[in-house]
Amino acid sequence: MSDSAVNPTLSDQETTATLTNPTLVLNCGSSSIKYALISEDESTRITGLAENLGLDTARIKHNTLDGRKLEIAIAGGRHELALQKILELLEQYHFVAVGHRVVHGGREYSEAVRVNEHVLSEVKRLKVLAPLHNPANALGIEAVQAIYPEIPQVVVFDTAFHQTMPPVAFLYPLPKSLYADHKIRRYGFHGTSHAYVSERASQITDAKGPHGWLTAHLGNGCSATAVYDGKSLDTSMGLTPLEGLMMGTRSGDVDPSLHMHLKRQLGLSLEEIDKMLNNESGLLGISGLSNDLRTIEEAANEGHKDAQLAIEMFCYRVGKYLASLSCALPDFTGIVFTGGIGENSKTTRARILDVMRHFGIKFDADKNASLVGGSEGSFHSDDSSIELWVVPTDEECRIAQETRQALGIA
Ligand code: ADP
Repeated sequence: MSDSAVNPTLSDQETTATLTNPTLVLNCGSSSIKYALISEDESTRITGLAENLGLDTARIKHNTLDGRKLEIAIAGGRHELALQKILELLEQYHFVAVGHRVVHGGREYSEAVRVNEHVLSEVKRLKVLAPLHNPANALGIEAVQAIYPEIPQVVVFDTAFHQTMPPVAFLYPLPKSLYADHKIRRYGFHGTSHAYVSERASQITDAKGPHGWLTAHLGNGCSATAVYDGKSLDTSMGLTPLEGLMMGTRSGDVDPSLHMHLKRQLGLSLEEIDKMLNNESGLLGISGLSNDLRTIEEAANEGHKDAQLAIEMFCYRVGKYLASLSCALPDFTGIVFTGGIGENSKTTRARILDVMRHFGIKFDADKNASLVGGSEGSFHSDDSSIELWVVPTDEECRIAQETRQALGIA
């Protein structure tokens, strides 16, 4: 690997003209940075990923406009250096705005906002609610500010879409002062994904609106949302992204007394319990194999009992959650599956729907099987009580749209 590839090649320059007024979307995580440069008309994009940040193996995997793949080593694995290299790679395309995915927006933000000193300090302050993510987001904003102070930046919060939830859904049954004085409440996450796929489903269905969708975002992180007439009414993730569904390495819902019990019985510290619930549980914890559903499905097919149990638990918990979230909808139009698992695993979709069999849901097995690898479509039968859709999520596109809207250049 070498970083000599940073210099634009002739073919990159030749194709520059097709990427008109692009918006740069940055998703800065604790050990990775995902980026996408998206043209104004959303027809063209350049994408890439900086991974293993913080380690010597850190590198950028960059997909050029003409379909070539570059790999660039990041000496020392520093976030700042990775950001600098990404900006160098993209500079030639003259991006007009930068949109940042920010995980936690707290209570204040119900829509995307232009970055100023106050917004930046809020992103940093909300580190208390998203310790791994918000500091990395702030680094991304500052890196762009330092190199391109004149380019407008916008933050798009993962929590913003869920700000329409009513108190009955967002409050926890705790002493009221915890909410009033400390903002302890359900915030919800994956907002751009739930917003994107529910809006898309409403565009492509023949059903008359307003529509009531349950959106199931099933990836490494998993969450489900009840969306009615374009508004989030309830969602499975809570104060943090740990609540709700079983995930790749996260437990989702457990007894709130578990912390106390583990501390008393096993002498574990709060930090050890937090790490266990976030990094060692979910599909990984039950299968003992992996957080990756593909690996678990292979093992299950070969008769691995714990892999079979992990899949069964995952689907049971998604089905149970979707059933309970349906109570938030005045009208139930259908379910929209998305995320790596939701978009690809026909067996997971079928098992989840089997858990909800008493809803009168009927689907076409061939249509379900055909919806893999990024294809979009429905798979319910004509006599099904509700519609079933697979809609590949496009959080980057949604962030670019919201960025342009916030800047008035949509
Ligand atoms: P992230 O939340 O990190 O963005 P993704 O949305 O990419 O994650 O989802 C990752 C999950 O999707 C992994 O569990 C992976 O195994 C699963 N997945 C991806 N492709 C398939 C497939 N063809 N069959 C089953 N699971 C898949």
